[in-house]
Amino acid sequence: MNKQRIFVAGHRGMVGSAIVRQLEQRADVELVLRNRDELNLLDGAAVNAFFAEQRIDQVYLAAAKVGGIVANNTYPADFIYENMMIEANIIHSAHTHNVNKLLFLGSSCIYPKMANQPMAESELLQGTLEATNEPYAIAKIAGIKLCESYNRQYGRDYRSVMPTNLYGPHDNFHPSNSHVIPALLRRFHEATAQNSPDVVVWGSGTPMREFLHVDDMAAASIHIMELASEVWQENTQPMLSHINVGTGVDCTIRELAQTIAKVTGYRGRVVFDATKPDGTPRKLLDVTRLRRLGWYPEITLEPGLASTYQWFLEHQQRFRG
Ligand code: GDP
Repeated sequence: MNKQRIFVAGHRGMVGSAIVRQLEQRADVELVLRNRDELNLLDGAAVNAFFAEQRIDQVYLAAAKVGGIVANNTYPADFIYENMMIEANIIHSAHTHNVNKLLFLGSSCIYPKMANQPMAESELLQGTLEATNEPYAIAKIAGIKLCESYNRQYGRDYRSVMPTNLYGPHDNFHPSNSHVIPALLRRFHEATAQNSPDVVVWGSGTPMREFLHVDDMAAASIHIMELASEVWQENTQPMLSHINVGTGVDCTIRELAQTIAKVTGYRGRVVFDATKPDGTPRKLLDVTRLRRLGWYPEITLEPGLASTYQWFLEHQQRFRG
């Protein structure tokens, strides 16, 4: 059998590792993986040499420098520089060495701060971005435009996926510098262990967010990568090579906190700290296009949180300190 040689860039990250877990199950796939010491993605010559040596059939571009609001604010130059370099090096080298299939992993922060909800793909570049992560968002927009431009000029078939808020194994469980799900799983876990009478949740509890398990994200990514060109193009408006990936369903932070209390076995009080920021009131992706292309999520929030909590319990050693 002629196996597809697939390069997953960023295979140690949350999304990359989830894609690897699924592709590993496939008999027709040979994974090509390189860690940071073996291949520095910021080094264009090294990336070019890698593609020259390896016969790669497909690329999942899941490598990125990511971080929370504090990191984005403190190191804006690192975020824009490293992400743009990784994208430009990989996409250009893939093209140079005749790789026709590439999937670029973006982020829903590419959409304007005041975008219409739910946010459709066409909201891209229709308004001002959220200031705190603008350098990161600009780099991700550049990645989408790199894909589109190689498609237009060279007839490549490069696609981009924009995930909603993801959670699951290998998330960042840092106590203060993480997203809401890992932060609350950890805080509720510690409150339960210490028999605390109350747990603090930031903000008013009223903001609404959409959450997708990373295993669903990996399944959606593979689904989109493998759609026949005719099917993909039929559903792609001219000049839009990106597609939203989400559940189409959101919940309040209060509901999320109640579900996290349930899965962690916490029975005390939940207190909302209104001095902490709420952020944007609602963030929901329009997933009409994704549904038209036949993909639906399988992991609903409560079981997804329960299995993520299980993973946290098995790996919490590494989050100590
Ligand atoms: P956002 O979608 O960029 O706002 O991402 P976050 O995951 O940081 O926050 C989502 C919502 O959860 C916001 O309304 C936060 O105020 C709220 N939230 C409640 N508790 C926490 C917490 O402990 N950490 C974080 N990051 N957010 C929290």
